[in-house]
Amino acid sequence: MARMFAPLTAVPDHPALERVVLARWDAERTFERLRELNAGGPRFSFVDGPITANNAMGVHHAWGRTLKDVFQRFQALRGHELRYQNGFDCQGLWVEVEVEKSLGLNSKREIEEYGLAEFAARCRERVAKYAEVITEQSRRLGMWMDWDNDYYTFADTNIEYIWRFLKEVHRRGWLFLGHRSTQWCPRCGTSLSQHEQAGEGNYEELDHPSLHVRFPLKERKGEALVVWTTTPWTLPANVAAAVKPDAEYGLSNGGWRLAESGGEYERIARGDELVGLEYSGLFDELTPQQGIAHRVIPWDDVVLDEGTGIVHIAPGAGTDDFELSRVHDLPVLVPIDESGRFYPEYGPFAGLSTDEAEEPVIAALRERGLLVEAGRVTHRYPICWRCRTPLVFRVVDDWFIGVDGIRGALLDENAKVEWTPPQYRKRMDDWLRNMGDWNISRKRYFGLPLPFYQCACGNLNVVGSRAELERRAVRGLEQLQELHRPWIDEVPISCESCGVEVQRIPDVGDAWLDAGIVPLSTLGWENPTWVEHGYATGAAEGLTGADLPDDTYWQQWFPAGWISEMREQIRLWFYSQFFMSMTLVGRSPYRRVLTYEKLLDETGREMHRSWGNSIDADEAFDRMGADVMRWLFCEVPPAQNLKFGYGPAREVQRRLLTLWNSVSFLVTYGNIEDFRPVYADLTGGPPEGQPLDAWLVSRTHQLVADTTAAYERYWTPAVTAAFDAFVEDLSNWYIRRSRRRFYGDDEAAFRTLWYALVQSLRVVAPLMPFLADELWRNLVAGACERAPDSVHLAGWPEVHEPDTTLLTEIAEVRELVELGRQVRAEEGVKLRQPLRRASIHGSEAARSHLDEIREELRVKEVELLDAAPLRFRYKPNLRVLGPRLGRDLSAVRAALEVGEFEELGEGRIRAAGHELGPDELIVERAKERGWAHSDRFSVGLDLDLDPELEREGRVLDLIHALNALRKDRGLELTDRIAVTVPASQSDLLPEHADWIKQETLAVRIEADGGSLEIEKV
Ligand SMILES: [Zn+2]
Ligand SMILES: [Zn+2]
Repeated sequence: MARMFAPLTAVPDHPALERVVLARWDAERTFERLRELNAGGPRFSFVDGPITANNAMGVHHAWGRTLKDVFQRFQALRGHELRYQNGFDCQGLWVEVEVEKSLGLNSKREIEEYGLAEFAARCRERVAKYAEVITEQSRRLGMWMDWDNDYYTFADTNIEYIWRFLKEVHRRGWLFLGHRSTQWCPRCGTSLSQHEQAGEGNYEELDHPSLHVRFPLKERKGEALVVWTTTPWTLPANVAAAVKPDAEYGLSNGGWRLAESGGEYERIARGDELVGLEYSGLFDELTPQQGIAHRVIPWDDVVLDEGTGIVHIAPGAGTDDFELSRVHDLPVLVPIDESGRFYPEYGPFAGLSTDEAEEPVIAALRERGLLVEAGRVTHRYPICWRCRTPLVFRVVDDWFIGVDGIRGALLDENAKVEWTPPQYRKRMDDWLRNMGDWNISRKRYFGLPLPFYQCACGNLNVVGSRAELERRAVRGLEQLQELHRPWIDEVPISCESCGVEVQRIPDVGDAWLDAGIVPLSTLGWENPTWVEHGYATGAAEGLTGADLPDDTYWQQWFPAGWISEMREQIRLWFYSQFFMSMTLVGRSPYRRVLTYEKLLDETGREMHRSWGNSIDADEAFDRMGADVMRWLFCEVPPAQNLKFGYGPAREVQRRLLTLWNSVSFLVTYGNIEDFRPVYADLTGGPPEGQPLDAWLVSRTHQLVADTTAAYERYWTPAVTAAFDAFVEDLSNWYIRRSRRRFYGDDEAAFRTLWYALVQSLRVVAPLMPFLADELWRNLVAGACERAPDSVHLAGWPEVHEPDTTLLTEIAEVRELVELGRQVRAEEGVKLRQPLRRASIHGSEAARSHLDEIREELRVKEVELLDAAPLRFRYKPNLRVLGPRLGRDLSAVRAALEVGEFEELGEGRIRAAGHELGPDELIVERAKERGWAHSDRFSVGLDLDLDPELEREGRVLDLIHALNALRKDRGLELTDRIAVTVPASQSDLLPEHADWIKQETLAVRIEADGGSLEIEKV
């Protein structure tokens, strides 16, 4: 007879099983068929935040991609039509820095020598390569996307949409060229924006010089200001010193500094008395310092708790300094160039980097007698978010979008967005309230070319499309292979105001513009006609087949019903797309957001390759399997950091083993008993059987209802928790209590268990798509005619109201049983040892489940107590009772000692004929042997063993040993045996031989004085 189900191995080999399932999905076009099935269904709009196609995927990427996949799969099972468009982020500093590294280039000069066209080609190659790697890894993770139709942000189509946004921003008057002090990466040679740098990871503890320097006052011989600095390289650009007007300063040893209370000074002066004094510059001989009058200025924000209370001001090398230069009309000296090296006019420092200048500056100060003190300090210092080089400040011209015109509207709109977890709405509000103007220009190469053409006549030309560029081009169109540098730079246009030829500014754009436009660009906003492969343009040509849809499509799919990325995207992608959509269409591009925290190693440390604790995604796929990874990602509440590693993975594997073993049980006995499942049971329910079957059906209804609700509120931890609890109930209650029914062909038991297992596979399928599908294949597709061949094509189970009364009753019974087990554990009495009696108090449900409780607790009888068992012990309060009772006291004391008293309520009792109040008693919690209590119930076990119980205990030990032997010998479950027991056990046989035979499938049993033996017959 052919087996109905394929036997399961002892434990699942997740990675191997997943590779089989992947191959099957490909061969059977499972995903394509799912899409065909749902075509025309209600729409579920998800817009993918682009992953940077720059390196292989890390496990932290796998987290986000898992969440995206889980909810897409759920919505598809619910019959929704989805877009499944994956996105790749392709240009900007990310890719440039990696390509520089791979080519061994380390400055902008070297890139220019290498050639911009070649550099752009290398960048595109890198994107193409890693897009392929990430696609392969995502498939391995089980992510279902329309992989041939990815959008690439460096497509000309995407770029044109951003141009259009920038033109609109200009039309509104928000675009401006700012002359500002900015955080500057000397290696990347560009300024960086507030939102890029805001991350906590963009700081490091760095060691820097700590100098106290004298600024000699001109009109006061022998007196100087003492100034503290940690950036010696900024001193050659010093133009002023700031004091706090209302602070007190003191003069000692010829130096002015903040007066400390109790300090001894020759003179004391308020800050404003020092304001206006002039001092000799430290490096007056340098060309840029010529003609500068260095003076003391007032500044209310001088920090008094570090340094000397006198701040050195170099407006070309610090943000506050620069702001002060505007207020006090100070000259701005920018000492370093794009690569962080001193300009030639800085004489002895020319060409030195800011680090290299430290020693010469200190030496010069020492030589001039201006150095008071030189030491080192370790402090938190900003580093480049991209290449981790310490940042400096420069004053440069950058392009900004003013944000004040839209800030209020953004805040109003954010109130309508549903954030999961909800507290993140406030984070977005905080960002929106505090964000500065958006710095959108980067002085780099392979990025969005900003379409700004600044004419000498004063007119700023902003080109809004390729068509407009072509219309206004003076020349160069024939070589314009894509909208990137260097080609775009060869296309000057004519000024719309004065008609002369204008060059594009060389800057490229902030990468967050690229990703921010996606909800408009990829969906075809205001595009009049659908363009086939309209997203395979420019650098994206040949990498994708994606279309550019038309405006009708955009109206159907915008805004996204749901998006999801990690929390730092609040100031990045969530923000940039919000800003851009609000500007162009006045609406948020998303209705609902799921965001999550950080991925750490299993001990809670950040993962770093250099610390040896990082895990590659590929390694995790091979060693734990994608389902286990997905489970880890899903079980953590998203507001918590995720501890990821092989330890937690083993814990998940252990729990999944319970499911596996339960399926294996059904498979094993189903094959033996030739069980034929009925597919229609999944809709109609299994036939009515015993009360326990009704309970499992109801318990299954509860699982379906709970997980459905959890998916609907985008809360995966509730899915894993519900599933875990269900499998525990199914395995440790239903199967354990029903085991015997499967040793015969109890149709109702088989069908009920099959129903429960299959429904649980269906609801866990979005989360654990491989294992669920593999088991579905075995239990359903291979066993039922006309069943879908994949769980992912089977739709979602109907949600039924569970019978909560029944569920509560059994939950109560299980709690009682647990209490009974607790007593056995505490008293060291084996679960196998039968006992005489269990006593129960407080449970109504126990009344109708006495048989189950008796079996579970392995007792001969269960008694239900009306009164609570003795929980308290009373002693007389001698100080109060002595005087009142006199000689009667000893009788009361004796009665209390043996527990002879009557409780009268409210802490009053009667003992030996006396009524006693709470203040006359000392109450102690009694520690009764054999009892365990929960909040509601008490369970007690009679622990005394009589000879009969003792013998039964030995019989059960014997049965246990025999069945273990059967297993060791590798006997089939149906094999019959002959048994020989040691003579010492012969006293058991007259009474219990039949029992032993029945439990071990023995046909013969004898005692011959040797050891325990079995033999297959
Ligand atoms: Zn950098
Ligand atoms: Zn002009």
